[in-house]
Amino acid sequence: MCGAVRYTIAEKPLATGLCHCNRCRPQSGSAFSTVIFIHRSAITITGETAVFDDIVSSGLRVLRRYCPGCGSPLTTEADVTGDIMFVKAGSIDSNEWYQPDLEMFVTRRRPWVSPVTGATQFEGNPEF
Ligand SMILES: [Zn+2]
Repeated sequence: MCGAVRYTIAEKPLATGLCHCNRCRPQSGSAFSTVIFIHRSAITITGETAVFDDIVSSGLRVLRRYCPGCGSPLTTEADVTGDIMFVKAGSIDSNEWYQPDLEMFVTRRRPWVSPVTGATQFEGNPEF
């Protein structure tokens, strides 16, 4: 939001998705997070970032990277997703093209949120 952190991604998204999990909800400040899936090697970040090291109930780590200046969430890097990571789609400069093709943790979706037409529904994470 403040522009102190910039990044480029050197590939097209592997997938686009909404995450309804109990961690994305508070972190996004909304009912779900809106992400793209990319390979970790595809992103180059410039500017200082901060990381919240989120140890989830399974004991696995989820690094939630954000801008320390304005607090905007940037990426989610989870042990469970291997060489794949998520980038928060709201932080992409031009994201008019964005359309979710899957939804994760749909059993935790809030009742007033309708499934996205055509989006594959996953009870947890998709297989990586
Ligand atoms: Zn999530």
